[in-house]
Amino acid sequence: MKIAFFSSHAYDTETMKAMAKQEGIEHELHFFAHRLQYATAPLATGCDAIVIFVNDTANAAVLHKLHEVGVRAVLLRCAGFDMINLDVAAELGITVLRVPAYSPFAVAEHAAGLMMTLNRKYHRAYNRTREFNFNLQGLLGFDLHGKTVGVMGTGKIGALFGKIAAGFGCKVIAYDVYENAEALSYGIEYVSLDELFAQSDIISLHCPLFPSTHHVINEDAIGKMKKGVMLINTSRGGLIDTKALIRGLKSDKIGSVALDVFEGENGIFYDDHSGEIMQDENFTKLFTFHNVLVTGHQAFFTKEALENIAKTTMDNIRALETSGPYVNEVKK
Ligand code: NAD
Repeated sequence: MKIAFFSSHAYDTETMKAMAKQEGIEHELHFFAHRLQYATAPLATGCDAIVIFVNDTANAAVLHKLHEVGVRAVLLRCAGFDMINLDVAAELGITVLRVPAYSPFAVAEHAAGLMMTLNRKYHRAYNRTREFNFNLQGLLGFDLHGKTVGVMGTGKIGALFGKIAAGFGCKVIAYDVYENAEALSYGIEYVSLDELFAQSDIISLHCPLFPSTHHVINEDAIGKMKKGVMLINTSRGGLIDTKALIRGLKSDKIGSVALDVFEGENGIFYDDHSGEIMQDENFTKLFTFHNVLVTGHQAFFTKEALENIAKTTMDNIRALETSGPYVNEVKK
């Protein structure tokens, strides 16, 4: 088979090639730095399958183009599948496989790191001490112990984040459409969404982006939150209405925000744009707030996660060789 990887950085190429060797995969693997979009889809001409990541675009037009050039399978090297139109993939008979879990620890630990950094302002302290400025003004935090942490979505990542927060001595409450026995075993208490908004000092988002969860954090939701709430999003940018978030920050309703994901991140994250004029005004506005911390969709980025992603991708390629069974298939 011929397989094209889109959005490939050196770290992807190295890990994938090493895993292909380890697993004895002898197909032709082609690595492209380009993001998948309509204009770049022809790079997959003659390929049986493509491998894509979170900020690639596999909408109807792109899938039709891929089908036209011979692609019969799309492998996602991530868990989320909001970047692909599953209805169109099914119509065209394109098999969609994903990596359902690679390291929930990576993401939960990053969310905890963001919570600690926002609270104790390590990022500001780092910059100050590099210049021998040891003034503490502006670095005041609060004890996490005894605070209420609200977790939205207690799947693999949310449950672990709740466990970490419980380890700090926080009271952990959660909202999910299903209760997770693992989360309950960590002492996490389920409440309604409104109760979560009303009671939480810190809210961390861990639910997927669906049409039903798009802008779940909007003006109305922010209005129900405690004044000074800390908001952390390591899930998907589209969960938050950025304009409402900015209004919440300006009015001091929101005390601090950490974003690893942003609703306009596609085309921004994963590349160096220093020296360019950033066009997204909502994005640039966020950088004017001292209490906003942004990382570029890096929560997944650990050695273990990259290796697990590569291993499951090779398993998915093996499954394509025999046309199934597909344990990691994503269906509409
Ligand atoms: P998961 O499928 O194990 O858990 C998702 C949970 O969200 C489930 O318990 C589900 O019931 C719940 N949920 C669904 N709809 C909900 C709603 N309306 N309100 C509240 N909860 C709802 O997924 P996971 O592995 O824990 O991943 C969570 C999210 O993290 C993914 O959807 C993905 O978007 C994101 N993610 C981000 C990164 C990163 O690098 N930043 C990496 C991996 C995953």
